Amino acid sequence: MTANLISGTELSKSIRTRITLEVKELSQKGVIPGLAVILVGENPASQVYVRNKVKACEEVGFFSSLDAYPASITESELLNHIHALNKNPKIHGILVQLPLPGHIDASRVIEAIDPAKDVDGFHISSAGALVKGLPGYWPCTPFGCMKMLESINFELKGKHAVVIGRSHIVGKPMALMLLDKNATVTICHSATTDLKAITLQADVIVVAVGKINVLTADMVKSGAVVIDVGMNRDEEGKLCGDVDFEGVSKVASYITPVPGGVGPMTITMLLQNTLEAAQKRHIA
Ligand code: NAP
Repeated sequence: MTANLISGTELSKSIRTRITLEVKELSQKGVIPGLAVILVGENPASQVYVRNKVKACEEVGFFSSLDAYPASITESELLNHIHALNKNPKIHGILVQLPLPGHIDASRVIEAIDPAKDVDGFHISSAGALVKGLPGYWPCTPFGCMKMLESINFELKGKHAVVIGRSHIVGKPMALMLLDKNATVTICHSATTDLKAITLQADVIVVAVGKINVLTADMVKSGAVVIDVGMNRDEEGKLCGDVDFEGVSKVASYITPVPGGVGPMTITMLLQNTLEAAQKRHIA
């Protein structure tokens, strides 16, 4: 078997085209969706991520602001900025780029965001809504993975989904979203004893670990769908995922590439959440 590719780049294009049209409709009612991105310090990877997010906002017609602060900013100064953004009517979504410098409590900062503007889906109320199956903003990366499964009309009901990784931003919310669609879900992590025995039973595998070749062809059932969230650099410095793409492509029915897979979908779902925040405030 040679797997079909689920292209996050292509899927993103079509979703962003639809978002652009919805932004035009909203703007005719005098509403421009607005996203505030907060960057603290000079982490080069974070600088690239926020630039890409701001650029994506501009491309679909959002208003966006990039508030960059020095690493020396105090927690209370940062909290004051968030309180001001919570009150700013032009802003519908607030994103704090993580990680934050060690002297700042990231949880306290995230919890200061108005849940109605929590378009990253990291606030405790967003997490609680996901656990309870209530409406709320879903974290963008697993939300993007769900859209990729939806794009191939993958029926999750009754299927065995295995998620490798249990972080708050990817693995755990991913497992809850799959459960919400009636999959039988197994979560694996660094203390899982026989990963291969579990992944071999899976109809769909989502890998979110951050290590090269965590999933190899011998660990995948023929015809399984494989979603690779990982972002790593190989020995030549090239971007790659957690999955042995070459090998697993020969066994899986569908696979996501890195780059061009989950990465672009993450930003697209951020745009989707921000659009929804604007629509909720002005139309509901
Ligand atoms: P994280 O917080 O470091 O979590 C990694 C998870 O992998 C942990 O739950 C860890 O288990 C588990 N793990 C580590 N080694 C393992 C092993 N050998 N077998 C099974 N599980 C293992 O990472 P994250 O934030 O979830 O990110 C994961 C990857 O996704 C990273 O490469 C990150 O860059 C990438 N990512 C990509 C996007 C995107 O937009 N494409 C977005 C977010 C993250 P324990 O809990 O037991 O430690």
